[in-house]
Amino acid sequence: PVVTRFAPSPTGYLHIGGARTALFNWLYARGRSGKFLLRIEDTDRARSTPEATAAILEGMRWLGLDHDGEAISQAARADRHAEVAHEMLARGHAYKCFASQDEIAAFREAARAEGRSTLFQSPWRDADPADHPDAPFVIRLKAPRDGATVIADRVQGDVTIRNDQLDDMICLRSDGTPTYMLAVVVDDHDMGVTHVIRGDDHLNNAARQMLVYQAMDWDVPVWAHIPLIHGPDGKKLSKRHGALGVEEYRAMGYPATAMRNYLARLGWSHGDDEVFTDAQARDWFDLDGIGKGAARFDFKKLDNISGKHIAMTDEATLVSQVQDYLAAAGRPSLTEAECGALARALPAIKSGVKTLPQLLDKAHFILTSRPMVPDEKAAAALDDVSRRILKELTPHLQTASWVREELESVLNALAEAHDTKFGKLAAPLRAALAGRVATPSVFDMMLLLGREETVARLTDAAA
Ligand code: GLU
Repeated sequence: PVVTRFAPSPTGYLHIGGARTALFNWLYARGRSGKFLLRIEDTDRARSTPEATAAILEGMRWLGLDHDGEAISQAARADRHAEVAHEMLARGHAYKCFASQDEIAAFREAARAEGRSTLFQSPWRDADPADHPDAPFVIRLKAPRDGATVIADRVQGDVTIRNDQLDDMICLRSDGTPTYMLAVVVDDHDMGVTHVIRGDDHLNNAARQMLVYQAMDWDVPVWAHIPLIHGPDGKKLSKRHGALGVEEYRAMGYPATAMRNYLARLGWSHGDDEVFTDAQARDWFDLDGIGKGAARFDFKKLDNISGKHIAMTDEATLVSQVQDYLAAAGRPSLTEAECGALARALPAIKSGVKTLPQLLDKAHFILTSRPMVPDEKAAAALDDVSRRILKELTPHLQTASWVREELESVLNALAEAHDTKFGKLAAPLRAALAGRVATPSVFDMMLLLGREETVARLTDAAA
């Protein structure tokens, strides 16, 4: 069975790159009835904060990336990591190194002067334990010095790293705490992780991690190192490019479903499919579809996917996405009555918008109530002539049956009587019905508002 994991370091918010890594692992596991685990890599005590862990969990919750079991704290497993370091020692794949910082610095300096590799070669590697002093030591892995280590990566292909470029890395520090490189391998092994999908900034680590697997005689997971995300200018994504945190996209009003779709397409493809459902993504996602080149973040494409998702999402889900957006943006949530009104309006208004605030803007006419305060343009559209025409219109609306065809003929007749086109009447009607001039169609608004409210708003405006 497939087991994947997301292993964020809790030093900040959940950024776009991390969210995409989490999504890929989640999709891979969920599409294969596997497990998706979460490990918080909180070993860097100085930089890890509970707030960051909370922000990562919240970002994952928003994106719907549920993990199996409890989140695992890497720091809490330090004893187990130390145990493995000692086991490598017992197996002769690691050794105690008593070299001091000064000795290491001196080694490097001499190596530099002689034009040799500055990778530290410990004199304790082959020392007889009988000669060990009673002094602080670190445990180093005995890395092979000849040959090469090959990472069979599912995205990058075979990546060969010459062993003379790998030093005897420290696994356990002199204070008994494990290093990151050791902890990752022990945790992945103990968690039963079968597939490691992560950013290709970890590719070099994989070579060193491989040596730990070999020393412990453990099965190596499938590795898939995905290219990082670049900004629209082709440079590595950074603060300069604007929003980096998933939270910011939520506050901009991109629905989680759209964000997930967009993130899935950042570096992975399935033929020409751009817009898809969660079920499709789960069915389709595979490692073969991950590209070797860096993906570029593209707001236009995100807008486009977002608009299509809003158009294809059912009313109940959209209403809850709107509430979620309002909360993230720090705006008051909709009342139950407003939710009902919005849900009724959605079929008529949900196409043609790109974000949830745009959708709310389009729904303004149904969420607002009398007495309405027209904005500047609407006030200008309600001039004397227009107000007279509106006054003339209301009695006709009292008796018309409330269906689109009849409303159309009433308004057309009115336009004809005034020797004008319906288009000329549209602006004052929009202004009267919504207090704005950019609105959904006049007929959609009338039908959704109903006779009583329509007549009341027209009467107010004509007064
Ligand atoms: N904690 C690492 C990071 O946040 C990920 C390590 C891994 O996936 O192996 O970049």
